[in-house]
Amino acid sequence: MQRFNSVTDYSFLPYEQVHDLQEKLLRKLIVYCKQHSPYYGRTLGDCPTNLKLEDIKTLPTTSKDDLAKHNQDFIAVPPNRIADICFTSGTTGIPCKITYTKRDLERLSYNDAVGFKAAGMTPDDVVLMTCTIDRCFIAGLAYYQGVVKLGAAAIRNGLNTMDSHAEIIKSTMPTAIVGVPSFIAKLGQFLAMNGIDGSCIKHIVCIGEALRTREMSLTPLGEVLENFWPGAVFSTYASSEIATSFTECEQRHGGHPPVDLAVVEILDEQGNPLPPGSVGEVTVTTLQVEGMPLIRFRTGDIGFQLPEPCPCGRHSLRLGPILGRKAQMLKVRGTTLFPNAFFHVLDDIPQVDNYYLEVTGDSLSDEIDLYVSLKEGTLESLRIQDKLYARNRIHARIHQVSQEQAQKKVFGTSRKPVRFFDLR
Ligand SMILES: [Zn+2]
Repeated sequence: MQRFNSVTDYSFLPYEQVHDLQEKLLRKLIVYCKQHSPYYGRTLGDCPTNLKLEDIKTLPTTSKDDLAKHNQDFIAVPPNRIADICFTSGTTGIPCKITYTKRDLERLSYNDAVGFKAAGMTPDDVVLMTCTIDRCFIAGLAYYQGVVKLGAAAIRNGLNTMDSHAEIIKSTMPTAIVGVPSFIAKLGQFLAMNGIDGSCIKHIVCIGEALRTREMSLTPLGEVLENFWPGAVFSTYASSEIATSFTECEQRHGGHPPVDLAVVEILDEQGNPLPPGSVGEVTVTTLQVEGMPLIRFRTGDIGFQLPEPCPCGRHSLRLGPILGRKAQMLKVRGTTLFPNAFFHVLDDIPQVDNYYLEVTGDSLSDEIDLYVSLKEGTLESLRIQDKLYARNRIHARIHQVSQEQAQKKVFGTSRKPVRFFDLR
């Protein structure tokens, strides 16, 4: 198998070679899984080991539920080969274990080094890490190792205070930041308020929250970041299970997964592959994973593939923003949308204090009730219904509530704000 020694981006190979490389690695994966993964040993049955890449669609998909229910059976190495164990929240309420070998960790470093390089980062960069690398969080560790692998320098300040990050920016002038965009936006505000120059930062790699909409325009959060750091913001998408990250290239128009690490499909609800441009579930087959390889893993994240080839010259697909979780998908009279489509509109209205959404209904159509508290004005005077309709073409029932009531509901169950209540 390939070693992850260099930071070679195989996505620049001609299409036919990319196809052949993926097909070769897929066949290796099938052979490996049949031999080593108890789960796939059972479920792959008599699947041919000379499968064509196009025939990946004939393999069964793997759900989060499968992974949770048969967790131990997905581990494809003996215990003494496991180098790192992390946990995801899972679907059964019991944390789901994800295991990585030493080589899997090298694969992750390689993945993120390739991603950072695509985003224009070089060995000269000094990177402020504002994400945690412990707490069983693999992405933070992978990003850190990717920075080191690239040859750049990392400052692991993690989930530290604004003051502490600002102090580092003042004293060390980092050229890049990796972290959660809403936090980095707050950091931008903090720097501006305190008269600290943050213009040394030329690359911001954002994890976990979408910066662009279905139409690929910036979300309000993306705009805040873009105002502080024009041209610096790059999205990346990853999850513990798929052990693969998709980082935007200099075009900043969808993230590329390295072609030698994953085969990506977008599936409809019945599991059929959708063409580029159509919205469906991001489904990933991991290539070159040893610890816990996954075949056609349905991530539960809803997104789409950009239809055109990327002008950067990579022959890998581009994944657009994650529009929401499958579990939060709303279906209203034939239209599919996500709570964020409403929330982005409300985020843009300065008089809005707080909000939450309740969804009820049967399996055919959902009923949406939106509860909004205001700092001033009324729902009518602020034309909230019109603004929501203009963006989403859907009439939601909107109710004005007091600031206290909204606060109690949104922060009633957890320290993190909860704005989506599913009563279906
Ligand atoms: Zn590109």
